[in-house]
Amino acid sequence: MSDNKLIRKEILSIKPYIPGKPIEEVKRELGLKEVIKLASNENPLGPSPLAVERMGETIKGVNIYPDGNVHRLREKLSVKLGVEGNQLIFGNGSDEILVMLAQAFIDKGDEVIMAETTFSEYEFATNIMGGEIVKVPLKDYTHDLKAMAETISDNTKMIFICNPNNPTGTAVGRAEVEDFLDKVNEDIIVVFDEAYYEYVSDKNYPQSLDYLLDYENLIILRTFSKIYGLGGLRVGYGIANEKIISYLERVRQPFNVNAIAQEGALASLEDQSHIRESLDYNRQGKEYLYREFDKLGLDYVPTETNFILVDLPKSNDQVFKELLKQGIIIRSLSSYGYKTKIRVTIGLPEDNKKFIKALKSLLNK
Ligand SMILES: *Cc1c(COP(=O)(O)O)cnc(C)c1O
Repeated sequence: MSDNKLIRKEILSIKPYIPGKPIEEVKRELGLKEVIKLASNENPLGPSPLAVERMGETIKGVNIYPDGNVHRLREKLSVKLGVEGNQLIFGNGSDEILVMLAQAFIDKGDEVIMAETTFSEYEFATNIMGGEIVKVPLKDYTHDLKAMAETISDNTKMIFICNPNNPTGTAVGRAEVEDFLDKVNEDIIVVFDEAYYEYVSDKNYPQSLDYLLDYENLIILRTFSKIYGLGGLRVGYGIANEKIISYLERVRQPFNVNAIAQEGALASLEDQSHIRESLDYNRQGKEYLYREFDKLGLDYVPTETNFILVDLPKSNDQVFKELLKQGIIIRSLSSYGYKTKIRVTIGLPEDNKKFIKALKSLLNK
């Protein structure tokens, strides 16, 4: 069998995504009973109890195909966001919408602009379709929208802006975004990935929904995987002009969002007290971690999300391994070319404490 003859050239260079290590795998491999995961920016409080209850009822009916039009969730969200139903698209996680965007818009050789240090799925989606990736370095750990606009060429087809950015936790402000949008031709799709939208507290953060009326080339992505605590269910959505949505609908699988996910997402939207509580925990955890990092003399990037990028006086891969032995999973950022930076998800108070205690003893060694 000849790989070169069999497989599309674009696929040969793609490396499979390496997710945060699953808890069960770490328990199995290291023979540990207790493992905490601060690696994938999941909500440590879990899903909304209301969602859990509704999903339990839904499971009895899973012999029936899900609603391919996601009718009830669509209605609920369109009212909440103040958009029309046909301005929404649902995906098996927003990850799937990234791939749909690439399938619908990216031709071989089209240029796709993204930050040098950002969510790796943009690169993946672009590569599948044979697009050319153009990376623009961050400035102070933040998207450099001015430099990104200057990178636009006649071949540019799409631009990804992760706001707030994963893995740095920084957000770009209203003025920069407005300035940027004015410079982008309408034949280029601008994707605002707002997976951490609900966590943002910066008053200067743009309400990108307001720009949909003036810019037809814009799509905003949000998800139920982060603050809504439904990462295991896979449901995310895109908000855009109805024309963009109609093109994405052409590449969407008919039943891409499963029935339990639809019900869980709907119930989660009704349980706003769970969101408030999650935000409270996140704020307290953030303040605690900032204080401890300060005491340890560690540099970190102030975050608009539920994770923090921290710089250590030690190899990140080594710290990752040593924490893992103690049953604490964090994310080493060595795959981004950083040697000493890690990303840690803000967890429950006792988990944050365990992490700090273990980190302290590692750094004192
Ligand atoms: C987690 C994450 C997503 C993926 O969300 P899913 O809806 O679970 O696919 C998308 N974008 C960013 C920046 C993320 O961190």
